[in-house]
Formats: sequence, C-alpha cells, structure tokens
Amino acid sequence: MGNINILPPNIQNMIAAGEVIERPANVLKELIENSLDAGADEIFAEIEGGGQILVLVQDNGSGMDKEDLLLAVKRHATSKIRNRDDLFSIKSFGFRGEALPSIGAVSHMKICTKKEDADFGYSLEIKYGKQGDLSICALNRGTKVEVRDLFLQIPARLKFLKSTPVESKRCEEVFYKIALCHTDKKFHLKRDGKERFKFSKDQDIISRIKHIWPEELVNNLQSVNYRIGDISVSGYVCDPKYSQARGDRIIFYVNNRPVKDRILLKALKQAYSGMILSKEYPAGILFLKISPDFVDVNVHPAKIEVRFKDESLVFSALYRGVKSAIEKKYFESPYPEEKIQDKPKKYLSQALAEYRAEEKKGFGLDILEKDYVVSHIDISEKETIEESDEDTEFIYLGQIEDTYLIVKDREGKLIILDQHAVHERILYERYSDKKFRSTQKLLIPIKVKLPEDRDKNFANELNHLGFEFAINDDSILISTIPAYLTGPEAEEIIKEYINSDKDNVDSLIKMISCKKAIKANTRLERGEAKELIKQWLRCKDKEFCPHGRPTSLYFSRKELDRMFKR
Ligand code: ADP
Ligand code: MG
Repeated sequence: MGNINILPPNIQNMIAAGEVIERPANVLKELIENSLDAGADEIFAEIEGGGQILVLVQDNGSGMDKEDLLLAVKRHATSKIRNRDDLFSIKSFGFRGEALPSIGAVSHMKICTKKEDADFGYSLEIKYGKQGDLSICALNRGTKVEVRDLFLQIPARLKFLKSTPVESKRCEEVFYKIALCHTDKKFHLKRDGKERFKFSKDQDIISRIKHIWPEELVNNLQSVNYRIGDISVSGYVCDPKYSQARGDRIIFYVNNRPVKDRILLKALKQAYSGMILSKEYPAGILFLKISPDFVDVNVHPAKIEVRFKDESLVFSALYRGVKSAIEKKYFESPYPEEKIQDKPKKYLSQALAEYRAEEKKGFGLDILEKDYVVSHIDISEKETIEESDEDTEFIYLGQIEDTYLIVKDREGKLIILDQHAVHERILYERYSDKKFRSTQKLLIPIKVKLPEDRDKNFANELNHLGFEFAINDDSILISTIPAYLTGPEAEEIIKEYINSDKDNVDSLIKMISCKKAIKANTRLERGEAKELIKQWLRCKDKEFCPHGRPTSLYFSRKELDRMFKR
C-alpha cells in the first residue's frame, strides 16, 4: 500500500477556497459576478459584520433548475465554458467553476433559485462542505445566495481577517467598482442594515461616483478618450491639485473587469509627474479596452490581476491618454498670468489648435506603425520612474526633429543622442541577457518558407533565443517565440533572418533590436525620452549601437567655443 491518497472533495474545496476566497469581499465579488453572468440587471447585496457574519446577493437573473443547482456547487462545474476554444475567448466573469464550492467549504451557504418559467424555486444549503438536501422555496425569478459565518469554523483563516470596518470597506470597494462599470444596471448595497449605495438603472458614471468621491473632486474631473493601435482608454482623471497621499481613488478596468495592475499605476503616475509630488497619487477611473488575445485574465484565481502580452504598449496608451487629458485642460483654462497681462483670447485658441495639430502628428492613427514602435520602451521591473531630473546624471532638455534627444550632463556638456541608436543598444543588451528568455506558445504556429539553398545551421541559433519549431524540407513551423515579440513581429523577423545569409545568434539579436527600437521621426513624450535615457545610461557599452554607429555626440564648452571661433 502506497502513501499517496486523493483528498476527499470537501478538503479539495477547502484548499481551493484558500485561493479564491481570502476574505468576505471575495465572496461578494464572486456572487455579484455570477449574477451578472446570469444576465441580471437588478442586484441587491447586503453585508453584516464586515461580511464575516453575512454576505447576501440577490438577483433577477436566469435562475437555475434543480439539476443545475446541484451541479453548481461541485468543483469545476460551470455553464460558461465547454471546450478549449472557449477558454481563449472568455466573455463571462466566471469560468473556473470554483466559487460556489469554495464558498460552501468555508461558510454556511444557502442558495435559493428559480427559473422564470418554473413553478417553484429550489434551495440548497452547504455547511462547511457538508451538503444538505434540496428543498422547495418561494422566490420570484432569480437567485439569492446567503453566506453566513465565513471562516467561523476555521480559526486559522478567521484570524487573518482585519477589523470589521476594514473588511466592510473592502466589500464596499468591490461593490462600487463593479457598479461603476455596469451603469445600465440597478445596484443596491446595505451595510449592517443601513442603505449604503443605491444606484438606479441608467444612472451615469459621474453621478454614481459622486456617492463615492468628494463632490468637488468629481466636478473637476477631466475626461480621457484615447486610442493607440488596438487599445482604447477612456474614463476620468482628476485635476492635479486633488492629488492625495493614498492611492485608493484609482480604479482601473480592463475589458470591463476591475483590476489591480502595476504597469497601469506606473503609467498613470508618470503622466502626472512634475505636476504632483512623487509621494502623491492622483484620482482616476480608467477603462482599457484591448483585444482579448492580448490580455490573460486567467492568471489569478481571484481574477483581479491580468497579464498583458505587450506591457509597454499598454503603458504608452494609458500614459498618453491621461497626459493629453490633463494637458487639454491646461490649455483650455487661461493661465492666471495671462489674465494679468490681458493677452488676447486668440492666443489661447491658437495654442490649442497648434497643440492639437502636434498631437495628431505625433500620435495619429494614420501612423499606426509608428505608434507601435514608440511603445516599445520597456519598463523594467523594479524601476521607479517618477524621479526628478536631478536624480540622474543627465538632464533632458528636449527632442529635435522627432529624432534626436538633447541632453546636458552634470558638468554642463551638451550631448545629442540618436533615439533609434540608443534604443537599439538598450534592446540589444537586454535581449542578449540570458535572464531575458521567457517565451510564449503561439495558438497558431507561424509557417515560413525556406529558401532552397538555405543552410539549416541557422536553426540552432533560433533555439538560443527561445524559439521552438519544426523544420521540414521547404519550410519551418514555429510554435513558441520569445515573450517580447508579438506573433507578426516574430514572423517578419524570422522571414528576414532566413532570407539573409546570417546564421549566428548575435546577428539575429541585432535584427530584433533594430526592428523593435523606436525609429527616427517619432515624437517622444518627455517621460518616454527620460526613461529611454535612464535605461541607456545603464548599458554596458553605451557609445555605439550594435551596428557600430555612434549613439551620442558630446560637445564640451571648449569645443563649442572653438566652433564659434571665440
Ligand atoms: P463559474 O462562475 O466560474 O462558472 P461558480 O462556482 O461561480 O463558477 O458557479 C457555478 C455555476 O453556477 C455557474 O456556471 C452558473 O451556471 C451557476 N450560477 C452561479 N450563480 C448563479 C446565479 N446567480 N444565477 C444563475 N446561475 C448561477
Ligand atoms: Mg462564478
């Protein structure tokens, strides 16, 4: 007899619950998401004792029949996906089929549910994993789930809960974050018997936020509306003067799911840099829409974190969207100084027109490719990017011809950087680094035809960078590519590589770096340029691009004097 045995289902559920249900707010979130998935447009929720005593959610959704109710509380039972393909195009909030059994394992849960056309509803109770009998209950159409005494019989979990007010606040946050992105639906929340939020159907987002944030802050929000490639950003951000010490008035949504994300937060803070202190946070509610292929929501059991395929593109989209919203406001309201000098109004509208023209030139959709290229300034993990100029040895002065960056160093030397060469150098060193070898599997492999006389040695080199592939006589089929490339980029690079006479990894890396680097004639935002310079300063071999062209030209005082024939 061996030592291994399969855990009984109630223990399995308890372990799963540890991942999905950490605190009452998770219960509330899972239940509301189920109601939304069931097509409800009226959702009533109630919490007591921070949600530890009670979390209740009632909806007017589809309801369940008897058979489905019994299945719903089993693990991996879901009505939302059926096959592998569904998993890659998830449109519902739930899909893991874990929430109800997990909640049932760690609480006393009662579900009442009725389909519209059924004669009566059914109810089912589960007490800490023990399922009771099905019985009949009176209910209109929809579902009501009551979760009582969460973790009461599991002291180890109970002791991790914070105070009742803190847990209540977390429940409220979960509730309003969902309510703010479903303005077509009615939402009520009661806390300890008192009405907390009462949102009526079709009440717009601004009037909903007024119940959550201070009215003055809400009245001064700037709207954001921006598109870059396939990503759109919309929402509202605050006037810099309403910045605060805590980041709790920052709400992000990705494809209508509330998420917490480090990249988005960085981009938002960066857009405000220079306008608020680096310790402060702005307020904002921002909706990102991005093709589901470019974002993975399945990475986190509680589904509050996402992973973006192209983090730098997402960073750029949010940064630019927010930045242009704040700056628009800046241009539209006359500066106090101008009032004093009584400058004609025309000046302002002219400035605004110029600014808009510039903006169009810099970020317009007509130059889509350019937009993509700009976005590839990678933001590496642990950097803080809200440093002031004084923290670096270089001081960025500006960009000319959308191609060269003008910089002054500590000693006052003038330096001109070629933005493409600089970025190429950064990427070359990064991609040459073995630490940078994470890969992604392609859903649809890339097929590239091989030139007839191509020596197959090149294939070993693809291995080094993390490509996985199969070769036959006339083509190569690539199934895995480095994580920093998109499918189309990989295809283009492989084609070019195979059709060249190169067969070493170094030239492949050079090719990739050149492809991915910002091109000349690309306007860079201040923050982007500074980030680029900072990363360049960390390069081992700063002076030349991987092809041997200079990245930078230096002019000392002496040289300038000489050129001016002083
Ligand atoms: P998931 O949401 O991941 O499918 P859950 O454990 O949350 O898993 O729910 C299991 C199933 O129970 C759902 O797929 C759905 O069919 C059904 N269900 C849960 N809540 C409701 C509800 N409020 N109304 C109707 N059906 C529901
Ligand atoms: Mg669910």
